[in-house]
Parts: sequence; structure tokens; C-alpha cells
Amino acid sequence: MAKILAIGIATLDIINTVESYPDEDSEQRALSQHQTRGGNATNTLTVLSQLGHHCTWAGVLIDEPDSQVIQHDLRSHHIDFTACKRLAHGKMPTSYITLNQQTGSRTIVHHRDCPEFSFEDFSKIDLTKFDWVHFEGRNVAETQLMLLHLKKYHPQLPCSLEIEKPRPDIELLFELPTVLLFSQHYAQARGFADAISLLSSLNSTIIASCAWGKLGAWAINQHQEVFHSPAFPPEQIIDTLGAGDTFNAGLIHSLVNNSELQFALTYACRFAGHKCGQVGFNHLFQTFEA
Ligand code: ADP
Repeated sequence: MAKILAIGIATLDIINTVESYPDEDSEQRALSQHQTRGGNATNTLTVLSQLGHHCTWAGVLIDEPDSQVIQHDLRSHHIDFTACKRLAHGKMPTSYITLNQQTGSRTIVHHRDCPEFSFEDFSKIDLTKFDWVHFEGRNVAETQLMLLHLKKYHPQLPCSLEIEKPRPDIELLFELPTVLLFSQHYAQARGFADAISLLSSLNSTIIASCAWGKLGAWAINQHQEVFHSPAFPPEQIIDTLGAGDTFNAGLIHSLVNNSELQFALTYACRFAGHKCGQVGFNHLFQTFEA
């Protein structure tokens, strides 16, 4: 069991499940609607918490009604959020998600009026309490300062960085963490046709993975050896929202427990595949084990 800190965002997700994805300028009734907490880093912590780790989230919490839903959910998953920056004004990031029941695809419209967690906020955290630090790859300038700080003052503390979107200058961060977690979305946006092309283009000696939906995921180790795991689809695809976050949690869980990279990759794909067979993350680990 490890003590894991994650830096990133929490969102309010408003999810409409629809029979099929709507045409533009059309109207249809949702089959169901639910609200939940989202955000990549906090999703990953939710899963890591179920895997038995002590999880802490550091991000920005705004004192407004929507943050109550978020705080309630974090508490119910035993995630400590005392390291958060609290603000009196603004709006928690909100994702409006259309979940297509036929395919499990999720289409997201995102709104935010919330500052990013800064290096100054980060520097107030006692990092000696943690065994692993995970970052969402956003806010490049501040994240770079955080990663440089870790490298200089806590070189033994492993850290992972999720690269989900092709943000300007995000490549400046690639040399800094212990593990890089890429998405298919990032790879394709940067012109890579497959995961191996992206991973072998990295000019570094760190561990990196790239998840690729139905094709599973690839990873490369410090010696430039490439590994692959197929996907493990459930009987029925119900909800792929958060599959990448579950994959990241599975990989971090295995690596913090010193598993081999091939084992870690396969475990992460099995776990993420299992997640696609249920809505949300509740009791994910119990049903996976069963
Ligand atoms: P994201 O949630 O960021 O879009 P991906 O779609 O790449 O991430 O999914 C992450 C992992 O989840 C994949 O590597 C795979 O193991 C699993 N996964 C995603 N979609 C499916 C699917 N349709 N069937 C089985 N496994 C899937």
C-alpha cells in the first residue's frame, strides 16, 4: 500500500446517456442523466484508492454549490483533499458528457472558470510523506517547475505524468518524470499513426506507455524495449468514460509495487477493459476481483 499524491483537476460531470449520438440541430430525450465527480487525476485516485492506496488530491476547490458534489465523492472514496487550494469565487470545471449507449463512446463539452493549481501551491505540500506523485499534463509552465523541484529535492520519489492532450510546449516536460502516460489522442494529434511510432520517437531513457483503445496499449522501458498488451473487452461495452484513467491507475499500482512492465501493462489493460463494462468507478476493484 503506497501513499500517492495526484495534482490535477476535479470536475463536475453531467452525463446524459442517449440511445444514439444526436445529429446537429436535432432534439432527443436522454435515456437517463446523472451527475458525478470527474477529472483525470481524481478519477485515477478513485481507482487507486480502491486498490488499497492512501490517496491525496491537490488541486483547486472553489466554494460554490457544485463543489459539494465533488467533495462528497472524494470523501466517499477516502481521498484526502486538505492539500487543495480553496477559493471563494469562480466555478468548478464542468463537463457536459453525451454517452452513446450503442457504442459506449463519450463526447465531452467542457467549461471552466477556475485557476490552475500553481507551483507556489505545490511547494507548500510536504512531499516526504509520499511514495509516488502523479501529474495531469496541463499548465505546462507550472508543472515544469513542480517536476524540476521533485527532480532536485526528491530525486528518489517516483512520479508519473499523463499526456492526454497536445498542449503547447508540453514536450518540454518529457525528460522530467519517471513514467510518461500517453493517450492515443495525443499521439494522433502529433501525427503518429500508432503507439510504437510515438514511443520510439522519445529521446529519453524513461518508462512510457501509450493506451490505444480497443487495440490495448504499448509501453517502452529504459532500455528501449517495447511491450504490448491486447485489450480485454467485457461482454458488453457500457461506458468507456474513464477507461484511460483506470488504465493509468492500474499501471501506477503495478509499478509502485515493483511489477515488471509487461505485467503492469497487461494488468492495466485488464482493469481498464473491465471498467468499460460498467458505468462509473463504484466497486470497480471488487467486481474486477470477482
Ligand atoms: P481514453 O479513456 O483516454 O480514451 P483509451 O480509449 O485509450 O483511453 O482506453 C484506455 C485503455 O482502456 C485501453 O488501453 C484498453 O485497455 C481499455 N479500453 C478502452 N476501450 C476499450 C474497449 N472498447 N474494449 C476493451 N478495452 C478498452
